[in-house]
Amino acid sequence: MSVHFQRQLAPDKGYLGQGSPDSCPTLVLNADYRPLSYYPLSLWSWQDAIKAVFLDRVNIVSEYDHFVRSPSFEIRIPSVVSLKTYIKPSKYPAFTRFNVFLRDRFACQYCGAREELTFDHVIPRSKGGTTTWENVVAACSPCNLRKADRLPAEVHMWPARAAFQPSVSDLHQNGRLFPPNFLHESWMDYLYWDSELEP
Ligand SMILES: [Zn+2]
Repeated sequence: MSVHFQRQLAPDKGYLGQGSPDSCPTLVLNADYRPLSYYPLSLWSWQDAIKAVFLDRVNIVSEYDHFVRSPSFEIRIPSVVSLKTYIKPSKYPAFTRFNVFLRDRFACQYCGAREELTFDHVIPRSKGGTTTWENVVAACSPCNLRKADRLPAEVHMWPARAAFQPSVSDLHQNGRLFPPNFLHESWMDYLYWDSELEP
């Protein structure tokens, strides 16, 4: 598998050189070795990861070159763990501000702008429009102001794509366009940013 996000990788030393285990998040995989969640990426603090190891809930898949020590034990901080019990992923993502932006690829659905993003009710609330996947789109402030409290036909402003309820895999696809800023190299085998998630 090729990886195209080398530039996004924080060099291991730079990232861990601060000497703080707090800068060592653990990527959490489901029992099928896919991330438990992509958006947001399923990450645990090292404390939660180590606790789960001791509770025998996860397998350690990969580790940082970084130890935490207590009087009674010494353990390398896991960089990747996998759950021992498979959790069935939900088919539909939560209706959140972030997920609406992600569905709309962080672009105004009226003009394509990526700045000053807000939300627009395609059918205004004052005209019975609901706050749902099917009626809310990302819109920049100028477009939002211009459209105001009017119907699309009244102002000749139509969303580039009709608002719809996305599936989790729709968001995964879009999310691959916006990888997080930090990806530890040990995560890369489990993050298929540049390949199809579903065959
Ligand atoms: Zn706009």
